[in-house]
Amino acid sequence: MKGEVERVVSCPNCKRGVKWDLTKEKFLPFCSKRCSLIDLGAWASEEMVLPGGTIKDGDSDPNAET
Ligand SMILES: [Zn+2]
Repeated sequence: MKGEVERVVSCPNCKRGVKWDLTKEKFLPFCSKRCSLIDLGAWASEEMVLPGGTIKDGDSDPNAET
């Protein structure tokens, strides 16, 4: 029995259906390189404004400790 069933995923960026074919799609789960890059950019900017992301501040501020 061969796994010939097509798996289709939704591109995280544009929600377009993407056939899960690792031999053809190099940007899975994205539909294209463009979408993968856009998502990476969004990820980076989200990280910048992540609420409560003050781990580095506490680490570099000795006065924070009582
Ligand atoms: Zn896409």
